[in-house]
Amino acid sequence: MSIVILLGPPGSGKGTQAELLEKDNGFLRLSTGDLLRKEIADGTEYGKKVQTYLDKGLLVPDEIVTKFILDYIEKNELYKKQVVFDGFPRRISQAEALRDKLKEFSKDIDTAILIDLPEEEIIKRLTSRKVCPECRKVFPGTFEGNTCEACGSELTVRSDDNEETIRKRLDVYSSETSPLIDYFDKAGMLDHISGKGSVEEIKNRIKALVM
Ligand code: AMP
Repeated sequence: MSIVILLGPPGSGKGTQAELLEKDNGFLRLSTGDLLRKEIADGTEYGKKVQTYLDKGLLVPDEIVTKFILDYIEKNELYKKQVVFDGFPRRISQAEALRDKLKEFSKDIDTAILIDLPEEEIIKRLTSRKVCPECRKVFPGTFEGNTCEACGSELTVRSDDNEETIRKRLDVYSSETSPLIDYFDKAGMLDHISGKGSVEEIKNRIKALVM
């Protein structure tokens, strides 16, 4: 499979699993959240435009985000590669725009994998995780160190990983993103896995679907 979407609520492990597909299986990972946070960290005009949405846990409007992502795909010729999308699409309109773009290169989404996880587990995970501001690796609450294992930078907490913003992000997921489940199901593209268990177990569930 070459075009894989990871779908699921914030904290379901999409980022971690996309990273593993990149590291172990030759996929290229496209994380919208990381691209947007990089624009913010670099202080670009675009970053300034999107920052308030990220701070509030709201989706960036399509007019601002969709073209940005589609241009990124085209510029980097991602349609020629094995790609895992983490965080895009997040609305049906984005899925349609992505599929239209891929169609220009005779491609389509191969599978959208939904990672299921109960809300309380999500809040527990997100309020305790740490991230590396440099290489963007994510560390679970059970990780005891304060420096990144990969690059040695001091770990931080994502500014939108506080309980109030997490609840907002979950609301946004259920009202704006979860209709995609039905959309991909009707298109015959949906696969389901449980997000419970170890990172390794979840990785194997995903691998069984995409390899
Ligand atoms: P993530 O790192 O995937 O949790 O994304 C963090 C934040 O980036 C989200 O809460 C949104 O504010 C924004 N974002 C990421 N992907 C999208 C998208 N596809 N559409 C709109 N906003 C997005």
